[in-house]
Amino acid sequence: MYEGIRSPVIHAPKTLNEFNTTALRYPTARIWAGGTYIMSQKDYYPSDSKDAIIDLGGMEELKKITRNDRFVEIGSMVTASQLLYAGKLILPEILQETLETLASQIVRRQITIGGSLCVPDVRLSLSTTLAILDASAEFKFYQGGKVSNHWIPIARLYDKGGNLALGADKALMTRIRIGLDYGDYHKFVTVEDPIRNSDKCVIFAFQAKRTQNSLSKVQFCMNFPTKAFHMSKDIEAKLSSLTLPIHPERVNTISYELVAEIKKQHGTITELQLERGRRMFESVLHGLNSQTLQT
Ligand SMILES: Cc1cc2nc3c(=O)[nH]c(=O)nc-3n(C[C@H](O)[C@H](O)[C@H](O)COP(=O)(O)OP(=O)(O)OC[C@H]3O[C@@H](n4cnc5c(N)ncnc54)[C@H](O)[C@@H]3O)c2cc1C
Repeated sequence: MYEGIRSPVIHAPKTLNEFNTTALRYPTARIWAGGTYIMSQKDYYPSDSKDAIIDLGGMEELKKITRNDRFVEIGSMVTASQLLYAGKLILPEILQETLETLASQIVRRQITIGGSLCVPDVRLSLSTTLAILDASAEFKFYQGGKVSNHWIPIARLYDKGGNLALGADKALMTRIRIGLDYGDYHKFVTVEDPIRNSDKCVIFAFQAKRTQNSLSKVQFCMNFPTKAFHMSKDIEAKLSSLTLPIHPERVNTISYELVAEIKKQHGTITELQLERGRRMFESVLHGLNSQTLQT
């Protein structure tokens, strides 16, 4: 049954220079971080794929977390649990909340930041939150025997269906950078398990700044993991010009405007998911109102 099937060749670079040499020499080799997504694929093993693997596990340069007074930088091989452990004082609260929702403690020890953001076809929690925090990722691209370096905002890493949109060239994410000037109101909400029930799941991240009674710098992302990664400059701008508390009728109308926009841009989302998304959006705005009324 397994005739002709061989174990793949595994490369284990220790430095970026070694990775560069390997990536240029074996352009079809697959990057392996925590392996949790790769191992969950139907054709993972046994398979007759001849593609080699480049295991990033030995690359200490990709495991660093640094911070100055403007931003924090996180290596792509930092795991979700290392970040949670190290990050209590240095990370935006919404990022901590997001990390706490990922799978179980055991799986969080395996999931890496780079692996989570580079899953090709399903958009999950970290992408959603980092997109609204204006985070960027550094990539090395390998093309025509050359290596080039680019910083890409996380919000622009994916197409509107949520697929990783890096093009055909081999690319390595080395680190992400998160600015420390973020809003004072934020919410991260998930309905349903994004892995087991991705067709019913909605992931929503929201942040805004409040100055006296006005709202500014609203950013949100509504993510339907296998269908749509939705950000809306239009609705963000509408919300950013409102005074607080937002009239309940306006909360209601703007939530339906969001649904109409999502429906127009993404055909495959079910009514159940749309209604869930709408209610999450409304409840975040009502939460914002009630905090305003308490202060
Ligand atoms: C039981 C279970 C439950 C989970 N629940 C959740 C959840 O609720 N929410 C959530 O957000 N996630 C969840 N996850 C994690 C998620 O599904 C992915 O498995 C995980 O994010 C992948 O990370 P990894 O480090 O294991 O990457 P890998 O599986 O090693 O790689 C994933 C992809 O990214 C590419 N890649 C990896 N690193 C890089 C890099 N540095 N540069 C370029 N490409 C790279 C790989 O080639 C591969 O295509 C869960 C996982 C499991 C197993």
